[in-house]
Amino acid sequence: MTLIRFRLQEQEVDLSPTYDAIVVGSGAAGGMAAHVLTSQGMQVLLLEAGKKIDVNAELRSMQWPYDHPRRGEAPPGYHAIRYNEYNIRQPPYAKNSSFKHVFSYVGGWGGSDYVKNILVDEKDNPYTGTKYAWVRARVLGGKTNIWGRLALRLSDYDFKGKTHDGYGEDWPISYADVQPYYDKVDLLLGISGHKENLPHLPDSLFQRPNKLTAAEVKLRKALQGMGRTATPYRAGVTTDGVKNKYRSKCFGRGACSRRPGGCDIHAAFDSPTGLIYPAMDTGNLTLRPNSTAHEVLVDPNTGKARGVSFVDSQSLKTYEANAKVVILAASTLESARLMLLSQSRQHPNGIGNSSGHVGHNFCEHVMGPGVTGLVKELVGTEPTLDDGKPGNFYVPRFRNLRDKQSGFIRGYGFEGGSGFGMIPGNAWDTPGFGGQFKKTVREHAGAFIGMGGFGEVLARYENYVDLDPVEKDRWGIPALRFHYQFSDNEKKMCEDMVVAGKEMFEAAGIEVIGEDKNILTEGWSIHELGTARMGTNPKTSVLNQFQQSHDVKNLFVVDGSSHVSASCQNPTWTIMALAWRSCEHLADELKRGNL
Ligand SMILES: Cc1cc2nc3c(=O)[nH]c(=O)nc-3n(C[C@H](O)[C@H](O)[C@H](O)COP(=O)(O)OP(=O)(O)OC[C@H]3O[C@@H](n4cnc5c(N)ncnc54)[C@H](O)[C@@H]3O)c2cc1C
Ligand code: SF4
Repeated sequence: MTLIRFRLQEQEVDLSPTYDAIVVGSGAAGGMAAHVLTSQGMQVLLLEAGKKIDVNAELRSMQWPYDHPRRGEAPPGYHAIRYNEYNIRQPPYAKNSSFKHVFSYVGGWGGSDYVKNILVDEKDNPYTGTKYAWVRARVLGGKTNIWGRLALRLSDYDFKGKTHDGYGEDWPISYADVQPYYDKVDLLLGISGHKENLPHLPDSLFQRPNKLTAAEVKLRKALQGMGRTATPYRAGVTTDGVKNKYRSKCFGRGACSRRPGGCDIHAAFDSPTGLIYPAMDTGNLTLRPNSTAHEVLVDPNTGKARGVSFVDSQSLKTYEANAKVVILAASTLESARLMLLSQSRQHPNGIGNSSGHVGHNFCEHVMGPGVTGLVKELVGTEPTLDDGKPGNFYVPRFRNLRDKQSGFIRGYGFEGGSGFGMIPGNAWDTPGFGGQFKKTVREHAGAFIGMGGFGEVLARYENYVDLDPVEKDRWGIPALRFHYQFSDNEKKMCEDMVVAGKEMFEAAGIEVIGEDKNILTEGWSIHELGTARMGTNPKTSVLNQFQQSHDVKNLFVVDGSSHVSASCQNPTWTIMALAWRSCEHLADELKRGNL
């Protein structure tokens, strides 16, 4: 089998025509918008702030640590912000740093050399306000180049959360509205997993699942008796293959377990090979990388969007592009920033912001607490090959479904792992040296199991971002300012994660050898959501159920900013299902002359 390598010709893009649509951002949301609209025959201009990089050369999935001169670390002068820095210092974190380049914490995950051209340099991209670990990737494909691939659906426990427990707002859609689009995403991109028939975590159209390890099977059996589930990691990875000449099926041989990893055969979904290159093959997509959008332009007569103004990220020259429809997909926080930046006589508070809700109701996932266990009977057993798979196991939410917890509403799930890895994680914590040290490490290497919680952060109006009146980025564009912190609900939920984690390990006969109660800094989950939420009431929401601005009918915002609540499930599969649904609607409306 030969995989096709897409070669993007660097050429001047023709900005004279009025495109059918401009899409801003090429990650999960923008890639999906480009894919759906071009397949409907629309002429689309895709503006991406970052460059087109040779992602295989960056991520070097098959490189062993000893093949790298610094075991994967970036050269001197590069620095990844540490947990303590996020909490002790104030943003902008890179200000006055003596390092030449500063990255978010993801750059410190044992592999900064692999992501140094993918993550944004915090020096060029400052933000201010409350502490926040903001992870951004400004390249073609955005964060999908390095995402963790846990691909989960939401259920009506999420879409109708208010109906269930009285908090916040229901989404203007239900699971039945999105389910056909989840199915389409599954079939187009491939997802591996195992059917469980859970009402709170609907199944996908799964391809071959990962095999659980012995420790995970033990946990799964114990949880069945508790009405809980440990299911194989639902990965946005094609294990049986999909019809796409840029992608192969997973051979379980890569750096999935090296975080940030990367998959050079693109079995793991990324937006360029999964969506953008196929869209370019239609002949209907014009891609302009290095294009940092800073304003949605407005027709002064109609108040409708007429195009986008952008700065060339390298030459710093400003350009305008025109279109019948503008689609923002720059990621939750960047799309909100763009809306706030787009002030005009018709839209003095920013485009689409007559409600004053743009930037507000900002939510995400809280994480940090977790447990580590030892499966005693696995100590000293023959090693098994547990490396090179796109994930281990997931324990779906079990709180506040049929029961009602005291202390907090909503729920959390656990992501976990166990088994023999290429580098035995226990080596770092095992005391000693020499032969005895090696023997102990080897004997115990496959006997550990750990899991950490991801919980729903409640959407609250008082958690928001706005524009900093002073601070600007390298391109002279006002920076975002954060006003955001966890509430008591999240803190109580985190306490419960440790209690429940221990309870489950003990029920499985797994010795609890570690517990982590520490809540990681706001932003750590990289699942920011909610800054331009959908709703039926234009006074309290920004978008309608098709992610279309209530105020400006030819403006759509198709990324996570539209989410009404965070749920506790990872958002990317939902972002793509919703973008697909909205873009189909958009194409129909454009054909009918309604935009
Ligand atoms: C390490 C890591 C692990 C993750 N793990 C998971 C996981 O397991 N499961 C999950 O569901 N999600 C995960 N995520 C999150 C996932 O990557 C995001 O939910 C997803 O990429 C969001 O898609 P998006 O299109 O909204 O944003 P992005 O993928 O960030 O894409 C936005 C694009 O817009 C561009 N852009 C921004 N501003 C502008 C501008 N002004 N003009 C032009 N272009 C602009 C950016 O350069 C970028 O390319 C993870 C993320 C990371 C980094
Ligand atoms: S395990 Fe599969 S998805 Fe992960 S890097 Fe290897 S081939 Fe790609």
